[in-house]
This record gives sequence, C-alpha cells and structure tokens, in this order.
Amino acid sequence: MSDLLEGGCACGAVRYRLTSAPMFVHCCHCRDCQRQTGSAFVLNALIETDRISLLSGDPQPVTVPTDSGHPHDVYRCPACQTALWSDYGRRPALRFVRVGTLDDPTALPPDVHIFTRSKLPWITLPDSVPAFEVYYRTKELWPAASLERRRMILG
Ligand SMILES: [Zn+2]
Ligand SMILES: [Zn+2]
Repeated sequence: MSDLLEGGCACGAVRYRLTSAPMFVHCCHCRDCQRQTGSAFVLNALIETDRISLLSGDPQPVTVPTDSGHPHDVYRCPACQTALWSDYGRRPALRFVRVGTLDDPTALPPDVHIFTRSKLPWITLPDSVPAFEVYYRTKELWPAASLERRRMILG
C-alpha cells in the first residue's frame, strides 16, 4: 500500500511519499476547512512528520486564523501555492496531509467525519463511517496501533 502513497502539488515542484499508512484519516466539515479549501470539506491524513519523505521541493508554512484560536500552519508549494499538509497546534512531529494531493486519493478514505454541524446540506454521509457533530474521543475510535504511534510522538 505504501508504494502508492505518493503525491505532489499542482506544478510538480513538490513531490512527497508517505512511508507508511497514516494513523487516521479525518474528513472535516468545519467552516475553517470549507473557507481554506474553498470547498465542502477537507480530507486530512494524520501521520508522523518523519513519515513524510520529501522527494522534491520545500513546502513553506502559511499561518491562518482559526475559529478555535489554536495556531494552524498550512504548508504550501512556494511556486504554485498548493496546500500539501497542515500543522495544527504547532506540534512539529504531527502532520495533516491533504489526501487530495495524493496521486491516488482513493487510497485513503476517511475513518471519521467531524464537525458535521456545518456540513453542507447536499452531502449525504455513509452509515458505515462514524460521524460527529463536533469532535470525538481519539481513544474510542483509533485502532490500538495508531494510538501507540500517537503516544510515541505526542506523549
Ligand atoms: Zn507547486
Ligand atoms: Zn476543519
């Protein structure tokens, strides 16, 4: 599977490879994500920063305001400004990779839908994936192996 987890920006300057599957995949329907993407939601694959192998280019952080007040840095290609991944809360060991930048975005379907309170009304969510009005408890949803990976980087 990890062979397939390569991606990049629109102009091709940034290319990356995820060296393992992510810990968990969020589909976020919050207003911040809608505004920042100009779309209905964002797809974020949560993975350790050191499991993103940068093959070319050098994404640069752009700090954006959030409703929560927590810092959010969006890493973008300096040339075409495609957003590749985010650092939420200034946690240097954790990245939220934008699944839409993968060469094969079908590789990482969402494990959870969050902030469905602001989900656009014409989107119907599948019954098979957990969905929450706001957020959820990590310990109740993540697989044990992912929780252990998270503990290794965040303590
Ligand atoms: Zn680019
Ligand atoms: Zn969001």
